[in-house]
Amino acid sequence: MSKLKKQDFATDNEVKWCPGCGDYAILAAMQRFLPEIGLQPEQIVFVSGIGCAGRFPYYMNTFGFHTIHGRAPAVATGIKLMRPELSVWLVCGDGDGLSIGAGQLLHCLRRDLDINILLLNNQVYGLTKGQASPTSPIGQTTKTTPDGSVEQPVNPIKFALAAGATFVARGLDKDPKHLARLFEAAYQHKGSSLIEIYQNCPIFNDGAFAAYESKATRDQRVLFLEDGQKMQFGSQQEPIYATLNSEQPVSPLEHLASTHDKANIQQANQLADWPNADLGAPLPLGVYYQNI
Ligand code: SF4
Ligand code: MG
Repeated sequence: MSKLKKQDFATDNEVKWCPGCGDYAILAAMQRFLPEIGLQPEQIVFVSGIGCAGRFPYYMNTFGFHTIHGRAPAVATGIKLMRPELSVWLVCGDGDGLSIGAGQLLHCLRRDLDINILLLNNQVYGLTKGQASPTSPIGQTTKTTPDGSVEQPVNPIKFALAAGATFVARGLDKDPKHLARLFEAAYQHKGSSLIEIYQNCPIFNDGAFAAYESKATRDQRVLFLEDGQKMQFGSQQEPIYATLNSEQPVSPLEHLASTHDKANIQQANQLADWPNADLGAPLPLGVYYQNI
């Protein structure tokens, strides 16, 4: 049988995301990646909840189930238990996965079934037109926070680590090659995997991740985590904790080991705590943690 192509995983359904939505790049990255694992479309199933991300299964030529708000983990769990041979992918957003579905997601992660979870995080409610979501940062202006959000945002990486996930990673919609590597690593991992994907919503939260995406700034603002490699970034190959000038507060990572060890959950928690956005420091992207 000849190798499948990207278009073999696409459907004829009209894609209904807004022009420029980051979801397009994530969808394309997935459709490009799947031929690499050698499974047939009928050996794969995509399950989603409600929100813009919930439309994902319509566009995948695989089995799919667009379920109800926050309940995709229960459906994905049932599918995996009854049909363990299927490759099960769950797609949720920050609202779907971390608000109404937070309990479902937590238990799905701690059960450690072999389900690959993509959490598309645009830090806003897109489908319902621009309210603050659980991941909206403090100060973010939305329709429900006209003076800026005052609540601590949920950190999906820390949430997943605390829930007992055995694979936790973060990627970016605008870096499909890196995303494909994360998809592959999650697929190979036999247990619950969560990949948080920063996803731009040009309608309600445009440019939230621009510093990590723009050619002008990304070298200085992104640190790619590679297991066993030094955690360095930028043209000067600086260590991660040497990013801030002396007037900045002491970084909690000052004493962080300089080499990434994806099996070290303490290090993963430290990296997840890294206050990059506030201090202009680099954002770690890649596999934060894998229990191997
Ligand atoms: Fe994408 Fe935002 Fe439009 Fe939803 S509202 S489809 S997240 S651009
Ligand atoms: Mg959202």
